Amino acid sequence: MPEQSGPIVSTSETQGELVFRAWGGTDLGRKRKENEDFSLIDTVHGLFIVADGMGGGECGGEASRMAVESIRSTLFNEMHVLRQFGDSPTKSNYREVQKLVHRAVLGAHSNIRSQARQLPKGKYMGTTVTALLICGRMGIVAHVGDSRLYRVRDKQVRQLTRDHSLVAERIRRGELTPEQAKRAPGKNVLLQALGVSPKIELDIGFLTIQPGDQFLICSDGLHNYLVEDEIVTIFREADGDRLIPRLIDSANQRGGKDNITAVSVRVSAPWDEVAATQLDMGPDIFSSLRLLQGLDMTESTYFLQKGTLRSFIGAEVIQEEEKPTEGLFIVLDGRAQVTRQGVWLATYTQGCFFGESSIMGDSINTVTIRCEREGMRILAFEPKQFLELLEENPVVGYRVLWNIIKEQTASQRDLIIRLADSIRRRTS
Ligand code: CA
Repeated sequence: MPEQSGPIVSTSETQGELVFRAWGGTDLGRKRKENEDFSLIDTVHGLFIVADGMGGGECGGEASRMAVESIRSTLFNEMHVLRQFGDSPTKSNYREVQKLVHRAVLGAHSNIRSQARQLPKGKYMGTTVTALLICGRMGIVAHVGDSRLYRVRDKQVRQLTRDHSLVAERIRRGELTPEQAKRAPGKNVLLQALGVSPKIELDIGFLTIQPGDQFLICSDGLHNYLVEDEIVTIFREADGDRLIPRLIDSANQRGGKDNITAVSVRVSAPWDEVAATQLDMGPDIFSSLRLLQGLDMTESTYFLQKGTLRSFIGAEVIQEEEKPTEGLFIVLDGRAQVTRQGVWLATYTQGCFFGESSIMGDSINTVTIRCEREGMRILAFEPKQFLELLEENPVVGYRVLWNIIKEQTASQRDLIIRLADSIRRRTS
């Protein structure tokens, strides 16, 4: 369960029918001497937190760390409430989970306050906190202060939290435009923070989680430098491990006046299935697919678009031994390991295909095929899809079948040669 503060952490986990991948990182920035931010990435339980401490010395860092740890331990002591809510988000389960999240944040608040009482006169400690908790298909947001949670969905970014800051309040009251607010004095004045304000008014929100959703939780050291539209661009352009460094770099290049912390979460189905009509098919794909030999460009395109594109993003099982074969699969990119009873047999790369026996009738997998960690794309034809294609365009269908038979014959010939070799070696 990685926590801040190594520069970058990355983790992934399947929870029910969803897969989370998360990345996080923090940076001192260019002006500060201490990093008072603290964050948590826990893909196992679906909990993601950013806390931005304040108070100077070691106080701020202590406050943000306490907030994260205290919230986490309260939530996990009542894991059953979270599970129940994830399994069935009924009204009464809503209320229970809301009460639990409330208790967790207020508990953190009072822990920090009692710690702060030990401090010498004139010293204080406090922290913002923005947490995203994912239970099943529901997300719960708990928020105090001016760290932010953004969601990117369908190329649109939306800020899901409101800043508890004086400037944000003045914008809400219509006294400032967002443009004026950028230069307004007292930009950093918070209306409330854990450990500082006597009373906390916590924002709790609920949202439904969809495959494809991406989230960004960050401290003001990042969002003060970011324009919302940029988030969409960066999420699109910088994939996975490059995302957090790119966000941190951009804040540093623009001044880096404060500590910079970002946690990003990507939610997907174990494989994102889309029609292959959306497939971006470069010439490399055409030339590498042995199944397409003898087909011209139009016929190849026609064939590929009849399949379904499956994207695997982690080390997921594509086909499992002893289970019925689901269909014909063609590797478009990435790599897959082929094993039988745990013993490695081969590595499949672009152009390889498997599961062809499913087209001829019911068949059982003799091997397990697992995608490598970096992810891969596969074109899938269920037997029904392939038979439809055969009827609709027999020329293309039979050409592909012919290529399958040729490949099988070649691999059987290889096998026979290898067998003959080994027999010869033994008898000579
Ligand atoms: Ca800050």
